[in-house]
Amino acid sequence: MPETNDQMGLTPSNPGGTPLINIPLPGGINIAEMIGRCRVQSYPTPTEIMMTPEPTHKPGVIKLTKEWKKEVWKEKKAGTAQEKFEALKTLLERIANEHYSKPVEVTYQPDLPSCCYNMASNRIAINSSLSIISAMHELAHHLFGPSEKKACRWSVHLFKKTFPRAYANLEWSGHCLVRRVESHT
Ligand SMILES: [Zn+2]
Repeated sequence: MPETNDQMGLTPSNPGGTPLINIPLPGGINIAEMIGRCRVQSYPTPTEIMMTPEPTHKPGVIKLTKEWKKEVWKEKKAGTAQEKFEALKTLLERIANEHYSKPVEVTYQPDLPSCCYNMASNRIAINSSLSIISAMHELAHHLFGPSEKKACRWSVHLFKKTFPRAYANLEWSGHCLVRRVESHT
């Protein structure tokens, strides 16, 4: 499979794969450094991601995510990009703090071609996809390390357990889960 931006971070909605690597960001963030790890890793196949036995999740993480869905996301998902980002940030920070005692910094970088995690700075960058699965995927890198298989399996299965109806409307495109599109011809 060709290496494209689409393959870099479970964010298939990026238009055209424009190379954004050289665009300087405020705060001295180096995009090339942030996505470098994503680009050299090879992703597991959907079969490997969905393979049984399913990965286990801490019961408290599932409970927290379900409560967040009802109390925060339900309202914020129809809000502005900033509101959706703040909601995602809350979820990631709470899981990291309350269940792993491993604080993480979450920033909004709408121009990034994919969501990313920078291990050196413990910083997750969420891009304009504002995707729950992508956010969970980067959180998994923060919690468990660079393994793409682990990150994909933990995030996809956590989403499946906590958003079963939305999950049912997804389909695989490469290693990415995307919303199923009805074709109107
Ligand atoms: Zn990854």
